[in-house]
Amino acid sequence: MSKKIPTRIYLSEDEIPKAWYNLRADMKNKPDPLLHPGTLQPITADDLAPVFCKGVIEQELDDTTRFIPIPDELYDFYRAYRPSPLVRAYYLEKELGTPAEIYYKFEGTNTSGSHKLNSAGPQAYYAKKDGLTSLTTETGAGQWGTAMSMACAFYGIELIVYMVKISSEQKPYRKALMEAYGANLIPSPSDTTESGRKILAADPNTGGSLGCAITEAIETAVKTDKCRYVLGSVLNHVLLHQSIIGLEAKAALDNFNIKPDIIIGCAGGGSNLGGLISPFMGEKLAGKLDARFIAIEPASCPSFTRGKYAYDFGDTGQTTPLIKMMTLGNGFMPSSNHAGGLRYHGMNAILSKLYQDGLIEAKSAVQTEVFDAALRFMKVEGILPAPESSHAIKAAIDEALECKKTGEKKVILFGLSGTGYFDMTAYSSYNNKTMNDQIPSDADLEKGFASIPKIPQNG
Ligand SMILES: *Cc1c(COP(=O)(O)O)cnc(C)c1O
Repeated sequence: MSKKIPTRIYLSEDEIPKAWYNLRADMKNKPDPLLHPGTLQPITADDLAPVFCKGVIEQELDDTTRFIPIPDELYDFYRAYRPSPLVRAYYLEKELGTPAEIYYKFEGTNTSGSHKLNSAGPQAYYAKKDGLTSLTTETGAGQWGTAMSMACAFYGIELIVYMVKISSEQKPYRKALMEAYGANLIPSPSDTTESGRKILAADPNTGGSLGCAITEAIETAVKTDKCRYVLGSVLNHVLLHQSIIGLEAKAALDNFNIKPDIIIGCAGGGSNLGGLISPFMGEKLAGKLDARFIAIEPASCPSFTRGKYAYDFGDTGQTTPLIKMMTLGNGFMPSSNHAGGLRYHGMNAILSKLYQDGLIEAKSAVQTEVFDAALRFMKVEGILPAPESSHAIKAAIDEALECKKTGEKKVILFGLSGTGYFDMTAYSSYNNKTMNDQIPSDADLEKGFASIPKIPQNG
């Protein structure tokens, strides 16, 4: 108990988890099933087979197996860059003058720069196991595309990445990195798919969107022999893979008998947040841990705090299964001046359910406040945080300052999902004060809500 807590708490290689934790197994109120958009019946493995790899489909539909073993060949992949450090933020605590203890789990130590590699590895592995030769995916800011490029290089699979056009123009170095790993980059919308050609015909100058890139990637996967599609967030199997974050964090804290009081993560599609909180939420559901869970999202894309709980499509082209989730509507477009990532219209189904049941709190922050927090953090902790991750920093600082007021010595754990080396354009606009905050009006949100399908399940 009285062991001095090191600044960086590392697990040994043998302590990397041998199985992922499937939180759904311990949820009494399970998330609603994915629905087939044509029949409105729960989706089956056969329905998903043309789009996803077999191993991934099994995991997506499994809400009863508590621990799912990590295959040996994949364990080798994880060992190349894990365990990731759990850091005691001594310097941030001092800077804030808070009695709180702050810890963060840092997922930015691999070359892709974020937690996304934790799911890219398994998805490339299952593709290889199915005898596939290529995969398609989309990328917005570029972290997922980079992670997938690395994983595909490792397992010898070809990869086509549809990168949101405006992002491919703004982030040439992301593009170069993916190409260096051997990926085939296509700015989206493109003339390589029917859906892309349709969008280009309607608006030749469009900068593209994530929803549109997803539609293109799925179309190509379905039309190509021995090819499937992979997605880096939102779906339940991604959250399962990301549980490695929470399992490692919990093992490291357990080694020092530390129990968190508040657990915080930024939320785009929900994978890093869900992965971090999973094992702790499992304990909370079992009555073994009394902790608060906080999701923080951008005020410009507020799916938790201002969204609707409804069945919606995962993409703008309305081709995916229907997911019961907190959503702004598949047609919602966040303001283009929003630099901080986390631009997805929906939220993972498990997290949406937990939110409905009052087990997760949600907050939003505007981007200038998020960058204020990022700078405060990086100046003392020495890590350049990703804009996405900086949302979590902002929420953690707020909680720590609350402890300063009340004098409570709470234990705060947050997810630092990645580094910001490829986000310097956003930092520049913060530095020269051209960054501004745009919060969608209720009328803006209504436009997005209008795209939520009008099916009996949505009342
Ligand atoms: C992609 C990304 C996110 C958001 O995705 P989630 O699925 O919500 O985790 C957050 N942080 C970083 C660094 C990312 O790359």
